[in-house]
Amino acid sequence: KAKAGGGQRSEFFDPALAEAAEQRRHMENDLRQALREQQFELFFQPIVDIAAGRVAGAEALIRWRHPERGLVPPDRFIPLIEQSGLIDGLGLWVLDDACRQLAEWQRAGRPHYLSINVSGRQIPHGLPPAAVAEALARHGIPASRLALEITEGILLANIGEAQAWLQAVQALGVRVYLDDFGTGYSSLSYLNRFPLDTLKIDRSFVQDMATGNNAHSLVIAIVAMARSVGLQVVAEGVETAGQLEILSAIGCQYAQGYYLSRPVTAADFPEVASEIDRRLATPGA
Ligand code: C2E
Ligand code: MG
Ligand code: MG
Ligand code: MG
Repeated sequence: KAKAGGGQRSEFFDPALAEAAEQRRHMENDLRQALREQQFELFFQPIVDIAAGRVAGAEALIRWRHPERGLVPPDRFIPLIEQSGLIDGLGLWVLDDACRQLAEWQRAGRPHYLSINVSGRQIPHGLPPAAVAEALARHGIPASRLALEITEGILLANIGEAQAWLQAVQALGVRVYLDDFGTGYSSLSYLNRFPLDTLKIDRSFVQDMATGNNAHSLVIAIVAMARSVGLQVVAEGVETAGQLEILSAIGCQYAQGYYLSRPVTAADFPEVASEIDRRLATPGA
């Protein structure tokens, strides 16, 4: 029953909803075209080995170079890509492009690590371990150079399948990082139940460290706990020299964040990495 006074909500037709659905269809078509025309691009954010004072690797972060809208960040299109079932195709492209980049760095004598983000929707069938093995072989990359970043949600959704998938990728020698640690349930039982290599502490903890609340103690506890079960730790969202100093004092192994560098293009990465190495080698800089 449509209500009188057009534009008001009714049970049957909601213009706002219809418009949202129309926009979504439009965006989905754009995304399909973007996949066909290769409008996606990986940016690279350096990850620093704190004690060594140099860049150890990078995280690959996707951007969409939209012909009219310019550079679109992942939060604006990944959810729709996931809903529309396009994530598997995109994820395989990310995997291939990351391996291609690793091969290029290897040829240039930069034995970096590179991690890619894997969405829950891709596990287990969208990103089969065999496809990972094939991409590594195609580009001649040692498996240990590649890491897959997953989030806790993946582990909760389907424990049995997630576990089998994780074991299969780790059997290849690929690393597995638990991303955004601390934002979800952060159950410590994951750390025993699932084979993981590295925890990435979410930036909200890192950024609260200096504000005098419990974040500082929490980061100390997470690093200590990770160590005791043999996991490496990357602190995300390091934005100040002070945060890097605290992390160094705590014994956190790796850091990533705007203080070191924003994500940059493949073309800019070598120079940015060299600049960070120089900066960290200069005491007091
Ligand atoms: P994430 O994996 O947790 O990536 C870290 C995000 O924090 C990135 O945002 C990065 O640019 C941002 N960041 C890094 N350092 C700092 C800092 O110091 N301060 C602040 N405020 N932010 C910082 P970005 O690139 O917009 O990516 C957002 C999310 O999109 C990622 O979060 C990841 O979940 C997802 N994503 C990115 N690339 C891919 C991809 O290829 N596939 C999938 N499935 N998801 C992706
Ligand atoms: Mg990540
Ligand atoms: Mg993260
Ligand atoms: Mg995130």
